[in-house]
Amino acid sequence: MRGQRQRVAVIGGGVAGLTLAATLDPRRFEVVVHEAQPDRVSGGAALGVWPSARRALARIGVATPAPAAVSGAALQTLDGRRLIEAPAPPLTLMDRPALMSALAAAVPSSVRHEEALIADPAGLDGELVVGADGVRSQVRGLVSPAAVRRRATPWVALRAVVPGAPDPREVGEYWGPGRLFGITPLAPDRTYWFTSHRSRLGPEPLEVAAVLAEASDVFAGAAPVIGHLLATPGANTLATRLWLAPPMTRYVRGRYVVVGDAAHATLPNLGRGACDAILDAVSLGRTLNRGGSLLGWQARRLPTTQAAHLGARTMMEFATSRRLQPSRDWLLRAITRGGEPVAPTG
Ligand SMILES: Cc1cc2nc3c(=O)[nH]c(=O)nc-3n(C[C@H](O)[C@H](O)[C@H](O)COP(=O)(O)OP(=O)(O)OC[C@H]3O[C@@H](n4cnc5c(N)ncnc54)[C@H](O)[C@@H]3O)c2cc1C
Repeated sequence: MRGQRQRVAVIGGGVAGLTLAATLDPRRFEVVVHEAQPDRVSGGAALGVWPSARRALARIGVATPAPAAVSGAALQTLDGRRLIEAPAPPLTLMDRPALMSALAAAVPSSVRHEEALIADPAGLDGELVVGADGVRSQVRGLVSPAAVRRRATPWVALRAVVPGAPDPREVGEYWGPGRLFGITPLAPDRTYWFTSHRSRLGPEPLEVAAVLAEASDVFAGAAPVIGHLLATPGANTLATRLWLAPPMTRYVRGRYVVVGDAAHATLPNLGRGACDAILDAVSLGRTLNRGGSLLGWQARRLPTTQAAHLGARTMMEFATSRRLQPSRDWLLRAITRGGEPVAPTG
């Protein structure tokens, strides 16, 4: 029986890699997940999860809470002038560590976990090698040699979860030239906040304190709540430089496949990165389980994910442009739909 199973090497045990390992049928596939930093995988702050990703997770037995009712959310200028009272999008905000534990629990015990940094994916055994290896993907270059290098952006992000519920009048996103700030309830007694701003800081690793200091300058004069949150950040604050995967015209070549950020890492403005990683992985796993075609899977996933890749960048430019003249309908559509796919994802 063992000899009849196909061998699948998954590089990366993040959202995409664990979701794929949880989806593949252990009777058909012998799966090894290679993860360089297993201790870091379960960390992080919070993630917005759109309904399509919640449905995909439900298909592999991972339950997620329904979206919480959020009142008072608004799009505001940096100084707190309300532009639009936005109906809360149907988004579930989840603790990232809770999502990662739920995914890990859904992975069958037959899956082998190897702690290793894979320097040469081409040297791995396996009928299929899946790059779930994030924006620095090594596998991406095997799928599309021109797309091997990730792309820098001028943006850095801060994220934190702090105790206490936010004031409903302060919930929402604050947009201004070169920067944005977001505040949202994570649970009845916790608040998630995030920022993006154009940064002059050097490449990684970023010091959280340096990014906080720069953000405090950049957001000087903004609504008082922003100054307060930046001044009392908490020990779990994360600072990240934002990188892009290059645009891709294929996710499959021979025995190599890329999913998640390896395929389409983009800016976080639509809250789609982890959701699309989940959708990629569940649809790929289900395609393989039924002996379906990899090119058919690629044809379903590539257009929507490349559109989200472009859409998130457009949203960032729009939100942080110098001439913010929002069209109410356009904004409401963009924010409340979050680029959710209109077609089934398989
Ligand atoms: C500020 C910010 C806010 C965000 N908010 C949201 C949100 O609200 N909703 C949402 O859906 N998404 C959000 N995202 C995006 C989301 O975090 C990512 O899209 C998601 O984590 C991608 O998952 P992944 O598994 O594809 O890649 P990763 O999480 O990057 O995982 C890749 C894994 O591969 C491992 N790895 C890499 N190379 C190798 C190698 N050679 N050998 C072995 N292991 C390797 C790494 O250690 C890592 O664990 C946000 C991102 C940022 C930066």
